[in-house]
Amino acid sequence: AKADLTRTVCYYEPQMDEKSRERRGLAMDLRSAIEHKELELKYQVQKSVESGEVRGYEVLLRWKHPERGYIPPSEFIPIAEESGSILAIGEWVMREAAREALAWPLPHKIAVNVSPVQLMHVDLARSIHEILLETGLPPRRLEIEITESTIIADKVRSLDALRRIRALGVTVAIDDFGTGYSSLDTLRSFPFDKIKLDSSFMKEIETSQQARAIIRAVLALGKSLDIKVLAEGVETGMQLEILRSEGCHEVQGFLLGAPETFVADVVAVEERRIA
Ligand code: C2E
Ligand code: CA
Ligand code: CA
Ligand code: CA
Repeated sequence: AKADLTRTVCYYEPQMDEKSRERRGLAMDLRSAIEHKELELKYQVQKSVESGEVRGYEVLLRWKHPERGYIPPSEFIPIAEESGSILAIGEWVMREAAREALAWPLPHKIAVNVSPVQLMHVDLARSIHEILLETGLPPRRLEIEITESTIIADKVRSLDALRRIRALGVTVAIDDFGTGYSSLDTLRSFPFDKIKLDSSFMKEIETSQQARAIIRAVLALGKSLDIKVLAEGVETGMQLEILRSEGCHEVQGFLLGAPETFVADVVAVEERRIA
């Protein structure tokens, strides 16, 4: 029995060790990523369905690891959250995006993703206020995107932070809407300016009446609460047509433009027509 046990342990341990060693390594590398200039920002256009006009750009973080190349945010953001690096990284993203946006030819809005860890561990309203003062970015040009899970973690604290952020003149969007558990309750009690409908709905919208019914319901809800709805992950002309006929306000996705690095690309995307 003793030998069996040893064998079991030996079988699993090296694998788990390797995984956690890798995470620890990445966590260490992340700490110097800002200093070593390994982080980059991409911007993905958000457009009005009706007029085709640019409504803003979502800021998407990229990490170019010196040995491993680009590591997707889905992989490194959780590590940054767990290790605490997300606090410095989140601040860097906001400051850098504000600086870059100020150099654009047109005063478009930037939508910055905020991690739950930031909302829980720093005075986010104060940190945003400082960045706005320091960079000179007008508050109306900044939107923050937060997921529902962020809010659920600590309702009282989240509500207070979001109210203070909105009082600065910054807008707030609820991200990945429709994937959480208490969407209706969250909408009722929090001051949102925009609902971002999760991209998972787009995959089904062309074929499923249920998916369409849900989108219709979210749009009706947005209308009665006076909150704009943006559909994420729009990839086809047919999806766009359906969203248009249902009265969706804004769209984002590869059809409208992929995340781009340079101002030149951003301007080129703007000149491309929506339909
Ligand atoms: P998200 O906030 O839901 O961002 C949208 C993701 O969908 C982006 O992935 C974007 O590149 C991708 N996408 C855009 N258009 C399409 C499309 O038409 N089809 C499909 N299938 N995907 C599309 P990305 O850039 O890999 O980011 C993944 C996630 O990482 C983001 O999801 C966000 O949660 C997180 N993230 C990215 N940047 C930051 C950041 O600066 N701070 C924090 N806290 N999280 C970030
Ligand atoms: Ca987002
Ligand atoms: Ca999203
Ligand atoms: Ca997402």
